[in-house]
Amino acid sequence: MDDNCIFCKIARGEIPSATLYEDEDLRVILDLGPASKGHALVIPKSHAANLFELPDETAQKAIVAAKKVGTRLKEGLHADGLNLVQNNGATAGQTVDHFHIHLIPRYENDTVNVKWQPGVLGEADKEEVLKLFL
Ligand code: AMP
Ligand code: ZN
Repeated sequence: MDDNCIFCKIARGEIPSATLYEDEDLRVILDLGPASKGHALVIPKSHAANLFELPDETAQKAIVAAKKVGTRLKEGLHADGLNLVQNNGATAGQTVDHFHIHLIPRYENDTVNVKWQPGVLGEADKEEVLKLFL
C-alpha cells in the first residue's frame, strides 16, 4: 500500500468507484475518462508501480480477471472487439504509477486509436534483440 497512490485507495475501496468486479486480490472499475463505452481498468489491490514490479502471481490473477470481465463487457455491450492496453512508463503513456490493465471495448467506426505506423524489421535491430535471448 502506497499512501499517496490513488489506485491503492480505489482498489481497497477507500475511494468509491464504479466497480464491475472485486475479489480479495483486485478490483475492476470503469475508467473515468473512457476511450469507449465500457472502458474498464483491472487494478490489483497490492501496490506495484508497473509490469516490471508486478509479482507473477498477481499478473496471473490480473489477466484472468481481464478475460472474465472483458468477455462480459464484449458480450453485454455487443462490442465488435476488445483491446487490452497496459502502459509502463511515461513515455509509454502511463499516467498512474500503479499497475493496471485497460479493457477497451471496440465498436465499428469508433474513434479509439491504438494503432501505430508499421516499420520494417531491420537486420541490425533483429540481431541485437535476438542476442538478448541467447
Ligand atoms: P494510464 O495512462 O495507462 O496510466 O491510465 C490511467 C487511466 O486511469 C486513465 O485512462 C484515466 O482516465 C484513469 N483514471 C485516472 N484517475 C481515475 C479515477 N479516479 N477513477 C477512474 N479512472 C481514473
Ligand atoms: Zn498503488
